[in-house]
Amino acid sequence: MSLLAIENLVVRHGLLQAVRGVSFAIERGETLALVGANGAGKTTLLRAIAGAHQPTAGRVLLDGADITGVPSHKRVGMGVALVPEGRKLFVQMTVEENLLLGKTAGRPGDWSVERVLDTFPNLKPRRHAKTGHLSGGEQQATAIGRALMSNPELLLLDEVSLGLSPLVVDRVYASLQGLISSGTTIILVEQDLNRALSVSDKVICMLEGRVALEGSSKGVSRDEVTKAYFGLHRKSAGSVPA
Ligand code: ATP
Repeated sequence: MSLLAIENLVVRHGLLQAVRGVSFAIERGETLALVGANGAGKTTLLRAIAGAHQPTAGRVLLDGADITGVPSHKRVGMGVALVPEGRKLFVQMTVEENLLLGKTAGRPGDWSVERVLDTFPNLKPRRHAKTGHLSGGEQQATAIGRALMSNPELLLLDEVSLGLSPLVVDRVYASLQGLISSGTTIILVEQDLNRALSVSDKVICMLEGRVALEGSSKGVSRDEVTKAYFGLHRKSAGSVPA
């Protein structure tokens, strides 16, 4: 059974349909890259999976159970953790205090402050620093670490490279690679196509709220994904939900 299945999901912002009937599934241990132009609906979809935004139609299934109406804080307890765009840290609190907030979901598991600091070594000397004083890369590592502290089954990462220098992005991704190798299931919104394709098993390209292309990251070319980005790609039968 798929860890997560999305069925005909529709999510609105007022009158605007930001997600228009999206369906896909992700298996345990897979990494799915969600790409698409600005405004394609990626963040809205991720927030609907996390329970931060209630869909108007469709279903979200976690391990086969319908969680569509479950609020976000309860989803964290069920193993769904979101690292939101812009990190949303408590800037007056230290790295360690922010990390410990991830524990409040009370899920059992191996993640601890020590393990997060081992995963993101750049945070070690900053453990007792207020997060408002950290660099962008350190803040991003703290935000990912806080999500990991809830021992998630499914980690949702929204544009983790946004605003970071290429060198720092490399560092964040090197740490993510470790998570991916250890079998964490990840859905990742990423603007950098090359990076998205290289770290993921599957890719979905969204266009105007719909799935324009879905496929294996090894099986699609950068050119195909770029075309889907701009609406020039024909959906391939069988790989894309109708
Ligand atoms: P980006 O890469 O720019 O973050 P995205 O693919 O994540 O884009 P969304 O942020 O999900 O796209 O936005 C999808 C659509 O919903 C866009 O048309 C956007 O303007 C609109 N939208 C997003 N958030 C809101 C909001 N809070 N209120 C109204 N409209 C919104």
